[in-house]
Amino acid sequence: PDDSPIPLPRRPAHETEAQRRGLLFVISSPSGAGKSTISRMLIEADGQIAMSVSATTRPIRPGETDGKDYHFVDVPEFKRMAADDEFLEWAHVFDHRYGTPRAPVEKMLHEGRDVLFDIDWQGAQQLYQQAAGDVVRVFILPPSMEELDRRLRSRGTDPKDVIDRRMERAVSEIGHWDGYDYVLVNDDVERCFAQVRLILRAERLRRHRQLGLIGFTRKLMRG
Ligand code: 5GP
Repeated sequence: PDDSPIPLPRRPAHETEAQRRGLLFVISSPSGAGKSTISRMLIEADGQIAMSVSATTRPIRPGETDGKDYHFVDVPEFKRMAADDEFLEWAHVFDHRYGTPRAPVEKMLHEGRDVLFDIDWQGAQQLYQQAAGDVVRVFILPPSMEELDRRLRSRGTDPKDVIDRRMERAVSEIGHWDGYDYVLVNDDVERCFAQVRLILRAERLRRHRQLGLIGFTRKLMRG
């Protein structure tokens, strides 16, 4: 497989040693395993990473904001966006369509920021196929199926049949754990969050992301 990174915009030339290639940080999990909470914590704690806001055809839930949680669109509009190649990736999840709008991601990377994606395994796979060297995939597991069931019910936002289907879906989602670079168990949200931050920190230090190192090491060797 070709894992050479796709050419992405670089940071401004005046950034020398700090120059770094932006990364696409994917967090997936069955719904209810805590990925939304952890994503929110990461965005709040880290000024260098921005969230990709997906488009979806699913109905808006209480407490959600259009344009912030998702761009809520109807099926014809979603299909138009897909036909016009406006998505980096898209997939059917449950009974609805979900997709990552391309333009905002390219803009964020261009501004030198990392981008966080809360997308499923199909989306993770599609992003990886397009930009393997720039994608970091993290999968979050629930501590047990009983706990997942409890968390889904306590949200109180979905009818029982929807929750039952989410539990079924969780089992198949968990089956894709081996398509990820990192797998965490969310038995304690603070601990899990700390691990996510460690991963992000270490991934930012990888040699191929530190573009400024080329000039810097050359300078060191010249003495
Ligand atoms: P929910 O409806 O609970 O917000 O999300 C359902 C599932 O869709 C979650 O697993 C979420 O990660 C996934 N999802 C959300 N946005 C996208 C997207 O743009 N692309 C893909 N492939 N999955 C998404």
